[in-house]
Amino acid sequence: MIDYTDLNYQDWVDWLNKNGEKPFHAKQIIEWIFQKGALSWREMSNLSLALREKLTAAFRMPVLEKVQVTESDDKETYKFLWRLIDKSLVESVLICSGERRTLCVSSQVGCPAKCAFCASGQQGFKRNLRAAEIIEQLLQVNHWLLAKGERISHVVFMGMGEPLKNYEPVVKTIRKISDPQLLNISQRRITVSTVGIVEGIKRLSNEGFKVNLVLSLHAPNQHIRKKIIPYARKYPLEDILTSMDEYACKTKRDITYEYILIAGVNDHPDHALELAHLIKGKQCTVNLIPYNPVKGVRLKRPEKKAIKEFRTVLFGSKIVNTCRYTKGVDIAAACGQLAMQHDESETLVQLGAKIIGS
Ligand code: SF4
Repeated sequence: MIDYTDLNYQDWVDWLNKNGEKPFHAKQIIEWIFQKGALSWREMSNLSLALREKLTAAFRMPVLEKVQVTESDDKETYKFLWRLIDKSLVESVLICSGERRTLCVSSQVGCPAKCAFCASGQQGFKRNLRAAEIIEQLLQVNHWLLAKGERISHVVFMGMGEPLKNYEPVVKTIRKISDPQLLNISQRRITVSTVGIVEGIKRLSNEGFKVNLVLSLHAPNQHIRKKIIPYARKYPLEDILTSMDEYACKTKRDITYEYILIAGVNDHPDHALELAHLIKGKQCTVNLIPYNPVKGVRLKRPEKKAIKEFRTVLFGSKIVNTCRYTKGVDIAAACGQLAMQHDESETLVQLGAKIIGS
């Protein structure tokens, strides 16, 4: 079966012609899928019954089953649990922040990066998601929001998986969701978070996109990075930072570094000084995230005093930084957790606005 989200306008015209149908239905089908949020061929009421039956036989729709929606106490964050056709489970997280509706999507089942601090990494890697399985996270949540007269405004690839290790489907998703005739989400409102896959960063910088790129840095040097991010052994920090600089130069987007503060690992004032030295002169922001303990992982969150000292050193070195505390929401992916955090002094609503610069 073909994934229904794989077809563009001309593909639909060709398919309709081949199947003895009028090509003008292409526009109607695309409208149903991307604008009206249809999740079954049945509900496409302006198509003939015969055409709907042909579509049902040729295309699987939907590709995700919504298992559960969990909302945070303040009703500003919603976690969607999806079951795939092979019974695997993945998650998306919706953050409602003022007018913004930011969806954090998963790109893989499990994650090959195996970061020491992450629940997804501990689960191991099962498989890449197909583009349809990523796109439908957006379509289904959009459909869910449509009932309230709302729609997704921002997208972050920060859920389960390392997006640049599932390159083609992720890029295909970006093209589809930013296409003005499809979901029409501005590329400036789309963010890809990577642990530092150098060849992926280089390829992405040549796509002609304007999407934001966030590096999960998490250490001030290669030595510490290798201890908590196994991929660091393959991708030296120097190469990653160079490719990030090239990305920023080509796309004219600022760089964001995520830095999870872990007690006794990377939270000493000397680490802050080393970090400041490492990124000095770059047009960037550092997002500090005090570690949120994950079941089965023996890492600890630093004391508030240590966090304050770390930030003082960064401020002293004129490094723009923010600090977000986890809200204790249970989500499998540590990258996803980043989207579920808030400043000590601010609400989750304000955080959502902060995570993604538009
Ligand atoms: S932190 Fe992100 S890249 Fe690392 S294992 Fe978790 S999901 Fe994968």
